[in-house]
Amino acid sequence: MTKEEPGKCSYLNCGREIFWPQGYTPQPEEKPCCIFHSPLIEQKKEAFRSAWQEFLDQHKNEKGEYQDLNCVGFIFPESVHFMDATFSGDARFSDATFSGWAGFVCATFSGAAGFEGATFSGDASFDFATFSGEAKFAGAKFHGDVSFNLTRWQGGADFSDAKLKEASLDFIGGNYKDKDEQEHDIRLFKGDKQIGFDHVNFREAKRVRFERVDLSRASFLRSQIENVDFIDVWWEEEGKGHKIYDERKWRERRVKGETEEKGEGDVGRDWIRAWIEAVREEFRLLRRKDKDELKEIENLYHQLILNFDHRRDYETGGEFYVRENEVRRIRKGWRGYCFEGIYWLTSEYGQRWLQPLLLGLAVVILSSLIFYQASPIASALVVSRLDLFTKIMWPAFCLNVASLFGIARVDNLGLSHTSLLWLSLQRILVFYLISMFLLAVRRRFRR
Ligand SMILES: [Zn+2]
Repeated sequence: MTKEEPGKCSYLNCGREIFWPQGYTPQPEEKPCCIFHSPLIEQKKEAFRSAWQEFLDQHKNEKGEYQDLNCVGFIFPESVHFMDATFSGDARFSDATFSGWAGFVCATFSGAAGFEGATFSGDASFDFATFSGEAKFAGAKFHGDVSFNLTRWQGGADFSDAKLKEASLDFIGGNYKDKDEQEHDIRLFKGDKQIGFDHVNFREAKRVRFERVDLSRASFLRSQIENVDFIDVWWEEEGKGHKIYDERKWRERRVKGETEEKGEGDVGRDWIRAWIEAVREEFRLLRRKDKDELKEIENLYHQLILNFDHRRDYETGGEFYVRENEVRRIRKGWRGYCFEGIYWLTSEYGQRWLQPLLLGLAVVILSSLIFYQASPIASALVVSRLDLFTKIMWPAFCLNVASLFGIARVDNLGLSHTSLLWLSLQRILVFYLISMFLLAVRRRFRR
């Protein structure tokens, strides 16, 4: 007990009367608290009901809205019902504990909704709720089934550092009909506000589902997301491509900083300018220092690959695979650039099987010209175009392929050193392309 304020609640800036249940003997280490902040859940239930009702009545304005509700650190011993309620001004529930059901169905938060560090011990529902200001759930602890279905988020949301021990979390958008039979299609998190899911271990949760959700502004940095259900979600505003927001943010910040330093130069025609700008951006990105963040982004992509491959959506998994390699290429800088670059050019990081096959064929056909040029068969009589093909090009091609696989010897054909050197190079190229082809086919078959 503090001597300065005898008889007052010990919770920060509370100052309400102390509450002890009837016949209860407090232990010396127990801090005196008011009815709202008291942790004696079982013993205070009865007394809490009337005190809570009185508290709510006090905060209702003439329109029946809850005005600047301050429930910071409150410990609710039973269910809380705020169905259809409107919170005028900020609603503050940070560090509160909801022991029972927390019902905010169809509630409207006109200002900020502060649930930072709040504990949801039971189930909670924010279905159809409207968050006009920022929805702050940073560091909140969820333990039951929590749903944010068809919720409107107008001021951004922050779920970073949230704890999801044994919780199941739903963020589901979609079609619904309102009271006037009007059809609505809600894509959650749509808009230009940031959504934060950083530092969240989704692995701890029983289940997390994002369905019909716009994740083009959602950050997942340093989170575990490989078991999250992503169903019909938007990764980018345009609806195509699979660049996660964390990569986009990193690129934009990077390029913006560099452009401000140097200023823009005026360069010729539009497409040339675009091309030069693209090359410039590559150079800028390569000179970056923040490798750690890139590693985190790479890790996110890796988790997304596992996530989508696991649910047999190999196409999306493949898209993320390409992104992962792109980020790795930039992270590794010049050293990794050559090999990753060739890897990209020849097979789009092992995603395309036709590309290395056609390239390999082109190399072989090109090399066959050497035999056509240098070998004695070139002097054979060419009567028609068909002859050119059947008597010269085709044998040259066969001879080249045979020598490529070591079936025929070509060193006695009198080829020049340059030609022989090219043929050795051809061998390296072709075997590289074949392995790229096999890799891509294997990746496809594994599906
Ligand atoms: Zn208090």
